[in-house]
Amino acid sequence: MDKILVHICCGVDAVWALRKIKEEFPDSQIKGFFYDPNIHPEEEYELRWIETKRVCDSLGIECIKGEYDLDNWLERVKGYENEPERGERCSICHDIRLERSAQLAKELGFNKMTTVLMMSPKKDFEVLKNIGETVARKYGIEFEAIEFRKGGGIEKMNQLSKQQQLYHQNYCGCIYGLFKQRQGLEIIPELVSFGKGRIPGSREELLFIKQIRSFAENLGLPCVEQSFEFIGWRIISSIMKLGKQPVPHTVLPYSSSIKGILRGKIVDITELEDKFIAKLNKSNTQIWQLKSNLKEVSLEKPRFLTNPVFIVGQDINLEIGKKVEFQLKTEFDPQAKSQNLIIGDVNSEQKIFFHSDTLPDGTEGVDISEVLMVISKNKEKIKDKQLAVVVLGAKTVGNIGKDVFLQEYGNRVVIQ
Ligand code: SF4
Repeated sequence: MDKILVHICCGVDAVWALRKIKEEFPDSQIKGFFYDPNIHPEEEYELRWIETKRVCDSLGIECIKGEYDLDNWLERVKGYENEPERGERCSICHDIRLERSAQLAKELGFNKMTTVLMMSPKKDFEVLKNIGETVARKYGIEFEAIEFRKGGGIEKMNQLSKQQQLYHQNYCGCIYGLFKQRQGLEIIPELVSFGKGRIPGSREELLFIKQIRSFAENLGLPCVEQSFEFIGWRIISSIMKLGKQPVPHTVLPYSSSIKGILRGKIVDITELEDKFIAKLNKSNTQIWQLKSNLKEVSLEKPRFLTNPVFIVGQDINLEIGKKVEFQLKTEFDPQAKSQNLIIGDVNSEQKIFFHSDTLPDGTEGVDISEVLMVISKNKEKIKDKQLAVVVLGAKTVGNIGKDVFLQEYGNRVVIQ
């Protein structure tokens, strides 16, 4: 019996390719090998892994997760950073991934290998075939060059990927390709971590959802993702000074940028139940002083008034007449994406709600183990359609996921 090790780079490329391999080699043992040290950043690597695993699990194919040896990859492509896609850097990148796959195939006693990289319309089939055959020969195994794209392969891949709601990356994977693709942008969002948590619309938030989905599907539970777009907001940099002293602060979501430096004086302080609001002699910028220690603040409803709001803790001495100075750079993304995840039948009478995002400092979040425990404990009830677990996205910026969920299923649920 043939034993085939399949190098896998992502779930989308694997979803049809693995079926095709099963079809062409029905009596063979097939094992996946996810090996992508080229992927940047690591959260993206984890996302591609979880989606690969989801595809393999759905087909009953075991998949090994390779090492994320990024340093070695960077060392090997040194000198080729500026090459275009499909150039010399890509050949080395394929070489690294396929050679490690051939080596592992040999170690595991497999006699054949292939790669789902040949699925991608952006990759050169002949180049991959040559590299695959060369490295396989070196380890005394055979390389199967499979024409996954032929016979409507791309359409089948797109169809299946849509059906399984797979994460579809929009760049090949490495930092150098990404630099080229995002040329002209002031910042490359994929390479910047905007906080320690899972901010709405981030890769971290999506990874959280995909990990839960993978867990639930492995318990045989039906899952549906409800994707939605919203106006995303990120803080790039901020400075606040009282007198001449910098002050520890946070910024309320959806605060707009300040041009240059804003200098003013506090002219009014109003006390509310949970905070003081200080207004300035010029501009609509406000200072909120919490009646607690400094923390990030989430929004109950989306905020359409985008005047900048700086937040300080109770230890700061705010006084009328005090001079203040602000700098603020923020960014809006009109096409940020988030998603709700529904595990089980949405018509089930009982529902348990969680949310997937956190504030930038990681607070107000739910621990994934808590969600997995609830799913695991209630799996029979979920199967029997007595209970559904719903994970809502983009909560901290105004409960947007909840609104999207209610718009579609509103007459059937009450969310506490
Ligand atoms: S563009 Fe893609 S194939 Fe080329 S080096 Fe980067 S990750 Fe590898």
